[in-house]
Amino acid sequence: MNVKSAEFLCSNTRTDKLPELNLPEYAFIGRSNVGKSSLINALTNKKNLAKTSQTPGKTQLINHFIINNEWYLVDLPGYGYAKTSRSNRDEWEKFIRKYLRVRENLQCLFVLIDSRHEPQKIDLEFCQWLGENGIPFLLIFTKADKQSNLRSTQNIAKFKKALLEWFEEVPEVFLSSAETHLGCPEILIAINDINKN
Ligand code: GDP
Repeated sequence: MNVKSAEFLCSNTRTDKLPELNLPEYAFIGRSNVGKSSLINALTNKKNLAKTSQTPGKTQLINHFIINNEWYLVDLPGYGYAKTSRSNRDEWEKFIRKYLRVRENLQCLFVLIDSRHEPQKIDLEFCQWLGENGIPFLLIFTKADKQSNLRSTQNIAKFKKALLEWFEEVPEVFLSSAETHLGCPEILIAINDINKN
């Protein structure tokens, strides 16, 4: 799929003001600083569509973008920034839970993981939580250009192995870089394939 147009639509702090459920929706989520905004910009070929390096954890915003007038790309607030308190985390979880409940048009959630690190508890727990709640998701391992391919592959294998403690099957995995656009065509193909079905 080629991204012919990508426009910012709206930013919401509340789930009751989200756009109509008239188009299929694909959401991106991950730990703060994982490279989510950079990847959204790379996928859409726009430098500043999603804002990179905001002060994490300030406002929990759901940003909707409309792609090719055909589908919504959604930038969800990140989790797990260093100063997160338990109450912040509960608040975030409540917010995301509500978003996931109301968006009947959500086709797939892309969970972003930093490919430089060994499996992190917070990411694994989030995937487990998605599994328990029956939310379909795929995994994107970001920042591939920052280390060797071998290191990325090893970290991905470890993450998959850890997931197999809870899941019978591991969801599809992508390795990406916002710098080189590695993985971007494959992610767009996956979205296109889901859209067609
Ligand atoms: P977000 O908080 O998840 O939206 O993360 P950002 O997109 O703002 O990225 C956090 C930092 O990582 C920024 O300094 C980005 O320039 C950098 N970054 C993000 N993705 C990549 C990538 O694929 N390669 C490299 N080398 N740096 C990246």
